[in-house]
Amino acid sequence: MERIVFGPVPSRRFGKSLGINNIIQPKKCSYSCIYCQIGKTEYYEIERKEFYKPEEIKRQVRKIIESLKDKEIDYISFVSDGEPTIDINLGKEIEILKEFGIKIAVITNSSLIWRNDVRDDLKKADSVSLKIDTVTEETWRKINRPYKKIKLQQILEGIEIFSNEFKGELLTETLFIKNINDCEKEIEKIGDFLKKIKPTIAYIGYPTRPPTEKWVEIPEKEKIDFAYIIFKNKGINVKIIEKKGEEFGFTGNLIEDILSIISVHPMSQKEMEKFLKDNGGSLDLLKDLIDRGEIVEVEYIGEKYYRRIK
Ligand code: SF4
Repeated sequence: MERIVFGPVPSRRFGKSLGINNIIQPKKCSYSCIYCQIGKTEYYEIERKEFYKPEEIKRQVRKIIESLKDKEIDYISFVSDGEPTIDINLGKEIEILKEFGIKIAVITNSSLIWRNDVRDDLKKADSVSLKIDTVTEETWRKINRPYKKIKLQQILEGIEIFSNEFKGELLTETLFIKNINDCEKEIEKIGDFLKKIKPTIAYIGYPTRPPTEKWVEIPEKEKIDFAYIIFKNKGINVKIIEKKGEEFGFTGNLIEDILSIISVHPMSQKEMEKFLKDNGGSLDLLKDLIDRGEIVEVEYIGEKYYRRIK
């Protein structure tokens, strides 16, 4: 049985977050974002289907929570190797995981939110983070590279409906890419849309880990600050996602922990070395995983990162 639960990992939005990877590997997504940190989408998917039995996910969550003893977890969050709403059991999983008394979050690319059943599932979560990188068709195709049958207009309408219905914490995440969605016109349009849906917090940022496409560039700091001001002036509660070193939770099996974490969250060399040192591992273990073809070393803005090979 695949390891479905990983972490806790530090999340910029959800504090200490126990991650649920509810999509069976290899990655399945409706998008193939140019900045995706887990690599290109080889298997586009938009049909909802079952990947795991909800009871199996609950069993794995219980096991990890017990192994962490009294360490605190702020959220159980669906952060998948792909898009979590493709999982047809998502709503049932949220329901049964609520029994642990921990808040539930879902991080979605929003691509299936035009569907009633997807919105109904998401409404069961305490917090939902929606990806909104652009509201312009051409830019959407450039950044998110969607599966051909999905339509941006439908998604934006679905987001508006959801924002009116959802009683929990609505977050949005907009990643800016140099020369693609960081011009004034784009920023204004995104801001106007966010103003309509009134998120609790609108996060803005840029890729902080190695992107799928090597040519992806980070915008100048002034552009991010400009977007912040434009959004703020529209009355949006906006926050910039800052890059920072992160600490990961250890559940007792170093190799399994590393593989499950970097399946969805590549670690920098510093983070990896600290994780190994804190939990009794050595660099030999890392070398062994690279030699076995389980993980790969990639460079991004002068730093080394480790990513899972699928
Ligand atoms: S960033 Fe998210 S939505 Fe985009 S391709 Fe990767 S997993 Fe899919």
